[in-house]
Amino acid sequence: MNIHEYQAKEILKAYGAPVAAGVPLTDAADAEAAAKSLPGPLYVVKSQIHAGGRGKGKFKELGPDAKGGVRLAKSVDEVKANVEEMLGRTLVTKQTGEAGKVVNRLYIEDGADIARELYLSLLVDRSVGRVAFVASTEGGMDIETVAHDTPEKIVTVAIDPDTGVTEADAGQLCEALELQGEARADGMKLFPILYKAFCEKDMSLLEINPLIVLKDGHLRVLDAKVSFDGNSLFRHEDMVALRDLTEEDEKEIEASKHGLAYVALEGNIGCMVNGAGLAMATMDIIKLYGAEPANFLDVGGGASKEKVTAAFKIITADPNVKGILINIFGGIMRCDVIAEGVIAAVKEVGLQVPLVVRLEGTRVAEGKKLISESGLNVIAADDLDDAAQKIVKAVKG
Ligand code: GDP
Ligand code: MG
Repeated sequence: MNIHEYQAKEILKAYGAPVAAGVPLTDAADAEAAAKSLPGPLYVVKSQIHAGGRGKGKFKELGPDAKGGVRLAKSVDEVKANVEEMLGRTLVTKQTGEAGKVVNRLYIEDGADIARELYLSLLVDRSVGRVAFVASTEGGMDIETVAHDTPEKIVTVAIDPDTGVTEADAGQLCEALELQGEARADGMKLFPILYKAFCEKDMSLLEINPLIVLKDGHLRVLDAKVSFDGNSLFRHEDMVALRDLTEEDEKEIEASKHGLAYVALEGNIGCMVNGAGLAMATMDIIKLYGAEPANFLDVGGGASKEKVTAAFKIITADPNVKGILINIFGGIMRCDVIAEGVIAAVKEVGLQVPLVVRLEGTRVAEGKKLISESGLNVIAADDLDDAAQKIVKAVKG
């Protein structure tokens, strides 16, 4: 689960990290009061969407010469003008895809005088089974580009869970970020704070890009991206309250209500599969035969007829779906339950696109019989390979 920058900064501030004063708003009428509550004379107007690259992003409605999604303003009037121009517009960044994201909320922040922009993040490093810091002097830009072009400029420091961030760890990070004087003293305090926030809130990512050295020599968190581990949300009611459903895919929200593991993708073959491994394999083989999956969907082990029906409806509601592949290996899941769910869903919402079904395993004969007696227009497949070829052929016509 992701949250907005201003929410991430509130959390970090509560832990004692240095962040600027700021005010979120959703109504342009609040811009003047927001700006006047800040010291000035420099303000920043920041689009709050769940995607990075906002500064270099472009508003769809404003043309290529307009300013991006993070703007500096030198007076209250400039803040107001920018708020009016940005609010409600669609921002396209490297991370939003071509459709972009509507900016429903802006964050007005006290502007910083920047001496240096650094990169700092925390993540779960699976290769060592620890939470690790990733640090680089090359902040404010695409860290993927830095990793590709100048990997030596990225330093990773994994933290021993028994000790937490030690003096030596913090010192190593200060070296990596070339921090001296006040900035070094700030860093020695900041790193353990970030580690504590990361662990206590069950984050899966905390990315500060950039962490800045101010002209006065101190450190400040200028941008913050936080993702929480979805599996831990049951013990963080306060974090769940920060969820912004307008930022999430409607189909994914609907799927989560039914406990389905569903991820929307860009292709046109809808997939209904049981088991994450088989779902991945199904997506791979669709690609192998030259098409793209429209989704990842794992209906899970002991899914009910209602759950299968809900899953099928989510797939068919996607206008991009030009064909559906059902690929079930019945272990705990029974093939006849899948068949019943699909038949019920088709009765309710109809079937406008080709459907290929491959069933194998527990109660497969009963499942196949139900489908053949239902009168559904189904293309039967014998195995995974056969199923993939048939659906790709059906979709490509
Ligand atoms: P992103 O583009 O979505 O990553 O948004 P950021 O919050 O990282 O802002 C993008 C860039 O805007 C930063 O790298 C800075 O160069 C600039 N920026 C943001 N806030 C300030 C500020 O307070 N003062 C100055 N001078 N520049 C800022
Ligand atoms: Mg940034």
